[in-house]
Amino acid sequence: MSDAVLTSLPAVASRVFTSCKKCAADRYQIVLAHTNATTAKVECEVCHSKKSFKLPSTKVKKVTGAAATKKAQAAENRKNAHSKEFGDLVASAQGGEQSYNMKAKFAMNDKIKHHKFGVGVIRMSLQDKIEVVFEDEIRVLVHNRT
Ligand SMILES: [Zn+2]
Repeated sequence: MSDAVLTSLPAVASRVFTSCKKCAADRYQIVLAHTNATTAKVECEVCHSKKSFKLPSTKVKKVTGAAATKKAQAAENRKNAHSKEFGDLVASAQGGEQSYNMKAKFAMNDKIKHHKFGVGVIRMSLQDKIEVVFEDEIRVLVHNRT
């Protein structure tokens, strides 16, 4: 993941991290379809509201000076907000770390250890999916597979 400006639409079924008005927060949103060359239909993974995602205009000249600083600051803030959420969740998680296994069943606030992504805390648990906050990013994993 990088904060580089997108120059083409993310692929259908991939995820894009962008703001959700309904959640009033940045969320991972699933790309449902491409409406045209610069617009896609996306669905928020958390509240499932659907909306349009527009590519930033490519006509914009390279951002410099104060605007560039502001943009870097915004990216930094977003990273810090994620780190804070991760830290808070780890601190409030119940019990010890459980090894992640797609056959196991996990609940909200469980702390898990993933062989690849490391320690994460579950912030949402559905029938067959869990949303896990890892140190670097939020991932949706399967669980409760029988
Ligand atoms: Zn949302």
